[in-house]
Amino acid sequence: MIADVEVKTHKRTELIDITEHVASVVRSSAVKEGTVFVFVPHTTAGLTINENADPDVKRDILAEMNKVIPFDDDYRHGEGNSAAHIKSSLFGPGLTVIISGGELLLGTWQSIYFCEFDGPRNRRLHVKIQEG
Ligand code: ZN
Repeated sequence: MIADVEVKTHKRTELIDITEHVASVVRSSAVKEGTVFVFVPHTTAGLTINENADPDVKRDILAEMNKVIPFDDDYRHGEGNSAAHIKSSLFGPGLTVIISGGELLLGTWQSIYFCEFDGPRNRRLHVKIQEG
């Protein structure tokens, strides 16, 4: 099954914890063992899994990304959002998490993050669950 999840972003760059959205799709599928694939159909956003305990981790990731790939540089892309396209490619559009006992098999400190690099926008995710 495939489900779509809407994500509203509020800042130019932002990491939004979507773990509960994905877990809720998994629960409604009733699949107990398998995998869930999350895919972002956007060229200026991405996905990552990282720490959910200290919010400064999100802040540091974004601050360093914005230093390494500045918003303004000698870019040619006319839309003016090359930094967002580059960050999107670095993070990637998809990730997979194992489903075990009907739950996401994540580490204690791990969350799934939607990475906004050209917000604020209304975004969406495709969530595909595979039983097995
Ligand atoms: Zn563009």
